Amino acid sequence: MSISPPGNGVPWGTLLADGETVARYWSHVLCRGPDDCWWWTGGLSDTGHATFRAVSLPGHTRRGTVPAHLFGYRLAQGIDSIPAGLVIRHRCDEPPCQNPAHWLLGTRGDNNRDAASRRRLAGHALADVRGAAGRARAVQAAIATADPDHLDEAIAAALAEGNPSGAHQDSLF
Ligand SMILES: [Zn+2]
Repeated sequence: MSISPPGNGVPWGTLLADGETVARYWSHVLCRGPDDCWWWTGGLSDTGHATFRAVSLPGHTRRGTVPAHLFGYRLAQGIDSIPAGLVIRHRCDEPPCQNPAHWLLGTRGDNNRDAASRRRLAGHALADVRGAAGRARAVQAAIATADPDHLDEAIAAALAEGNPSGAHQDSLF
């Protein structure tokens, strides 16, 4: 089977069917418009990916933290939706993003090749001078402190801070 348990041997199906676990997943997602990034407000990995402590079922302890997009993708597409050997890629190149419309399946090679070419584009998300984790943390800090009426502007400002050269280019026009 291509389905590997996420932790402590608890099958994905058990976690995905557990209402409390699903509700807790969504409690960490800032859902926005259909085309926007849905930012993760929970834990982050060193690569800026969202981490979700999926296992909180009775009798289970702290192990069982999974990449949140692996949980979210299965929640959106079904438990068998990730064939062995494939990874979930972010169309938006924002690792913590949880918008299912921004995800697609691909190979690790696809992912590495795209990331390498985009990292060289000035102003691109992957060219952020803070690195992916720093960028993700800056967005979380902006969300935590923003005036709810100006959330979009606060997020945009946090993203722009990572690309000082891009801001300079904009100022030329
Ligand atoms: Zn996104």
